[in-house]
Amino acid sequence: MGALKTLGIGALVVLIGAMIYLWGHSDGRNGKPPGLAEVSHAAPKEWSPTKASPTHEVYYPGTEDLKPDEMRVIACGSGMPMPRLKQAAACFLIELGNGDKFIFDMGTGSMQRLYALGIPLDYLDKVFLTHLHADHMGDLSAFYIYGPQNNRSVPLRVWGPGGGGTRPEWGTKAAMDSMLDMWAWMTGTLVGTIDTRSMSLEVTEYDWSKINGVIYEDNGVVIRSIPAVHFEQSASFILEWNGLKLAFSGDTLPNKWWIEHTQGVDLSIHESIFMPDTAVTKWKFSGQEALNAMTTIHANPAFFGKVMAMTRPKHAVAYHFQNDFDTLPATIRTVEQVYDGPVDYARDFMVWNVTKDGVRTRIAVPNPESYPLPPLQEKQISTGGDRYQTPDWVLDGFPDEVDAVAKKIYSDFNEEHGTDYEFRLKK
Ligand SMILES: [Zn+2]
Ligand SMILES: [Zn+2]
Repeated sequence: MGALKTLGIGALVVLIGAMIYLWGHSDGRNGKPPGLAEVSHAAPKEWSPTKASPTHEVYYPGTEDLKPDEMRVIACGSGMPMPRLKQAAACFLIELGNGDKFIFDMGTGSMQRLYALGIPLDYLDKVFLTHLHADHMGDLSAFYIYGPQNNRSVPLRVWGPGGGGTRPEWGTKAAMDSMLDMWAWMTGTLVGTIDTRSMSLEVTEYDWSKINGVIYEDNGVVIRSIPAVHFEQSASFILEWNGLKLAFSGDTLPNKWWIEHTQGVDLSIHESIFMPDTAVTKWKFSGQEALNAMTTIHANPAFFGKVMAMTRPKHAVAYHFQNDFDTLPATIRTVEQVYDGPVDYARDFMVWNVTKDGVRTRIAVPNPESYPLPPLQEKQISTGGDRYQTPDWVLDGFPDEVDAVAKKIYSDFNEEHGTDYEFRLKK
């Protein structure tokens, strides 16, 4: 009897132990939401086949409220400096429960991803650049100039590294001035035909060499930068809001500032470039090129794992590699040799909901047929301005026969809408 009782207690202890183990391992790693006990395995009683599905394991942008104390992060670019349908280059959108949205880096290809989320551009007016490599800012130029045509009605604000070092003239302000010069022709053609209030760029250069210096503070949000070991004028960001902390590496080798200032952060997004062998076999790098890039400019998976093991974030994200069926296993194996915490290997549209209770990872389902959303202000077309005109002699090439067609378009439109617009080709 006594032996049976001991056996029973022993079994109970094992069972409780197993439950605690499972509980501890259900969070994070597999992207399961915290609070497993609340998950029901039966459909709610009121649900029927004619009602919207009560649960889905993906994120449909624009269909979920963000709670006041919640942060949502979406990978709008998780890849490499190589154009690729599957993965754009570095770009992460951070949405906060207070209504603020921040874009950390805007690498090539990321603009389409941002547009596919269905967010009015007026809310996407704060872009922070870690450095000026094209895989971190290549889409900024198009994002800026597309503003008026896609209903942005406020200036675009850009924070980027600047000043100091051996090439202070290569900072963000100089790059943005050159960008505006590049768009002089297009800017001239838009004036007078469309609401161009968004044709304004507010550039703030932050001191990339400061260690944990504040580069942004507003509405309860503080963003700091630390130097990145990745050429002069490169930095990493740390965002704090509402007791939540997010770190974003941009590109960097492991470094003491990251290790000191990102200890235990809620979400740690750090580069983890591909393995040297992948660089040789897939990118056709020479052995020396591969080793240089993977160990002296970027963090490879072994470096990433080591950094995560030294900083123990609540949730880690590895990005900046081609995340494919044949590259991922070796990456995971390498990271897991040194790091056993929760980690996601980013791909585009991966989304993280971050609260004090933990991190939930899903994949967002973007809208491939998106249209511009309305501006937050009433449209204004300022007449005059420095409009770049089509010369009269070129306009004279417009055939008289088509003139009648144009007039018909106007009369039809006016009749339909009760307006009195007039077709005039020459000013
Ligand atoms: Zn870089
Ligand atoms: Zn990069």
